[in-house]
Amino acid sequence: TGPLSTRFAEVFGVRHPIVQGGMQWVGRAELAAAVSSAGGLGMITALTQPTPKDLAAEIERCRKLTDQPFGVNLTILPTITPPPYDEYRRVIVDSGVTIVETAGSNPEPHMAMFREHGVRIIHKCTSVRHALKAERVGVDAVSIDGFECAGHPGEDDIPGLVLIPAATARLSIPVLASGGFADGRGLVAALALGADGINMGTRFMCTAESPIHDSVKKAIVAGDERGTELIFRQLRNTARVAGNAVSREVVEILRGGGAFPDIAQLVAGSRGRKVFEDGDLDAGIWSVGMAQGLIDDVPTCAELLDRIVTEAVDIIENRLRTRTAVA
Ligand code: NAD
Repeated sequence: TGPLSTRFAEVFGVRHPIVQGGMQWVGRAELAAAVSSAGGLGMITALTQPTPKDLAAEIERCRKLTDQPFGVNLTILPTITPPPYDEYRRVIVDSGVTIVETAGSNPEPHMAMFREHGVRIIHKCTSVRHALKAERVGVDAVSIDGFECAGHPGEDDIPGLVLIPAATARLSIPVLASGGFADGRGLVAALALGADGINMGTRFMCTAESPIHDSVKKAIVAGDERGTELIFRQLRNTARVAGNAVSREVVEILRGGGAFPDIAQLVAGSRGRKVFEDGDLDAGIWSVGMAQGLIDDVPTCAELLDRIVTEAVDIIENRLRTRTAVA
């Protein structure tokens, strides 16, 4: 165990209570393996792979890159072409993966099969009521996403400073705080709010091993906390993405009364993938969180995790004491 072990780290067998959450087009083997090798929990994103067979190969590739545990994210949200979720789930269990992050909808339909194969489940959600439901259906941990997060923050708009303690007050299972976390200060804050660790996405996008174009990493370093846009509000499928020509056009069309078919070709994931592959920041929509305002370098995952944990321990042992006058 590491210097900051928690219930989460113990149950999931990781050195640090830090998870790299699922990220479409980013959660590939090289990033997941780098995070896991550095003592965190890395995560391959299932739907980034075009077919279940490709996911099986990606899991194999990750195993060759790390001997540490890693997980697979399976997100179920509205999609333009619904993927064969059951086949992806089958590949996950057949590959012997022991940790899954479910997200987007009720994890219950997947529970029996994952349980049968000894898979531990982290369910990522955006409200206390959904977290309680997930606990009731038997997940092992929840990851709770505040309004700051990249991607889909839900429709309640509750920032982490309220959402996380509201959740940890009512849940018994380990909780990961997610949305807006990027450094050791955030980790200590999460622990103070009753969480057992943190989940980070945007921070891990901006690491040496993250398999995206350098110009996107540079944009995150240059960007600040105001650089994101909320799209799909009117469709109740809100997503926080980078503010760019495409996301602003989407906001305008929906504000003007447009429906999904009017924006489908602007928001297609295949266009977002081009941003990450070619580095053209206006090629499509791409997810990024408010945490970009806290990011100003591109470290390796090992440097990042080491820095976060060292900073967190220093804050707990020294800085908080010198800032306060606790007798
Ligand atoms: P896609 O190309 O099918 O869709 C692009 C975007 O449009 C997605 O955000 C999707 O949720 C949204 N969308 C699709 N159909 C919709 C509809 N009928 N009404 C409202 N919104 C609709 O998706 P993709 O980019 O290939 O992504 C694959 C999966 O990963 C999707 O389920 C997507 O939501 C999910 N994803 C999740 C996050 C996250 O932050 N959790 C980020 C990116 C993608």
